[in-house]
Amino acid sequence: MKHYRRFLLLLAMLLTATFASAQTANDYWLAADKALAVGNIDSTFYYLNLFREKFGRQYAFAYTTFLTEEDYRTLHNDARWTAFMDSMRTYKHEAEDKEEIAYPRKTVVEDASAPIVKRYDIQLNIDVDKKTLTVTATAQIDFKGRENIDFTLWKYSTINYIHCKKKELTYSFDTKAKSPNTYIPQGTLLCLTAPKKKGLCSITFDYSCNLDSLDTWMSSMERDWVQLGYYMAWFPINSDSRDFTAKVSVSINDGYTVSGSGIVQRKGEKWEMSQPWGGFDLQIVASPTLKSKKMTSDGRTFEIVYTDFADADADSALVACSEALQFYTRLFKTNPSNDYMKFLVVPRCGGGISRKNFIAYQTRHFNEDFKTAIGHEMGHFWWNKAPTFSWEDWLNEGFAEFSMLWYIKCHFDKHVFDCYLEACRENARHVCPIYEVDRDAPEAYDALYNKGALLLYDLEQEVGETRFFEFMQGVAEREITSTALLLDYAEEKFGKETREWIENRIKS
Ligand SMILES: [Zn+2]
Repeated sequence: MKHYRRFLLLLAMLLTATFASAQTANDYWLAADKALAVGNIDSTFYYLNLFREKFGRQYAFAYTTFLTEEDYRTLHNDARWTAFMDSMRTYKHEAEDKEEIAYPRKTVVEDASAPIVKRYDIQLNIDVDKKTLTVTATAQIDFKGRENIDFTLWKYSTINYIHCKKKELTYSFDTKAKSPNTYIPQGTLLCLTAPKKKGLCSITFDYSCNLDSLDTWMSSMERDWVQLGYYMAWFPINSDSRDFTAKVSVSINDGYTVSGSGIVQRKGEKWEMSQPWGGFDLQIVASPTLKSKKMTSDGRTFEIVYTDFADADADSALVACSEALQFYTRLFKTNPSNDYMKFLVVPRCGGGISRKNFIAYQTRHFNEDFKTAIGHEMGHFWWNKAPTFSWEDWLNEGFAEFSMLWYIKCHFDKHVFDCYLEACRENARHVCPIYEVDRDAPEAYDALYNKGALLLYDLEQEVGETRFFEFMQGVAEREITSTALLLDYAEEKFGKETREWIENRIKS
């Protein structure tokens, strides 16, 4: 997952805009974008400089977004650009050097004795006209000897029954309570008491949801676009269950095409989604204009699903996936452990999400952002073995981000690569250690992604390209899942000194 920087920035600007006077930072930025779009370079610099003068210090962290913004690259040879960027960088460093580095830590992550859902089998009926869902969901739950399990479910749900082997179970569902999950603002608590036998149980939930008031990020129940998932809790979500498999059978109004985070196939009147790999989300999307294109290369399938996006751009994205796959296969000299990837182009504002084998994000064109996203996501075909809910996720995200950097280095102009590398360095400049950072804290992003990628880039500079990529090959082949194992392997490969160099970079 990546590419939220500009989105977060705009969000931050919108939030502060309420308190600002007539012209906001975003106004100036958009005015510069508009001027640039019609080729008016003088006006572009006029607005960029107004942005810098009035908001440059406040939004100094925007420096790295400016560095990699594709549209601004035509300005890079202009002396005014250099002056603008020099001064933004100075603001950034001044702001950072005044501020102490926040370091939210979390040493041990899992509560191994918490009850979990291992699998869902769901019948989902979507009525787009009425904005309702009717759901029958059977969950395989391991109670681990406990008496209760808590779920978050869509607030405006009516529960018909909750059964275990046709016997009614006791539960409480308080539609007025505050959501127990901060990621699910429109959810509410569903507390379930275990059946007498408290081991592995198959429990069926039957309920309907009224989505009239749906107003949650990455969620929609409109005629042109339906998107259901974790953030609105259309299925009972238990926050300790992050590794379940699922099968969802979907029926929907005539004329709709369905897709989602798993492998989706049409089965007669219905759509069947199977998610045979472990995950914590079940994304379902539908639209009357949903299209899909697939490409299979060496037994691996990439799919792009879209509505408001050109067919030719979809083809280009698939070709880029296939090329990235071949490039990394040569680079890491191992076959990827993954064989499926789906890109969903979301026709709504609001950044993107990333799940195993599935990424959803908003764009109108196949642009540089899309290409670099492919560079990162295809990297996960190799880097997907470490746990994703702790700081060890840097072994996935830092490695995927490094892969993207190397992909840019070998496929783009040197100047473009230099911009991305500097952005990575700047994003990692004033950031807490990778080691034991709380994965859920916002600080984790720059630590795991940017510091992680930069560590690998600098290691390559230290040990040389050949030895470095032999090391990467070994990490992929041995399916290394922890930093401790990575350090042992680094010592075996490069010696004690390099091990300590890596360890030091992880802990500082
Ligand atoms: Zn990623």
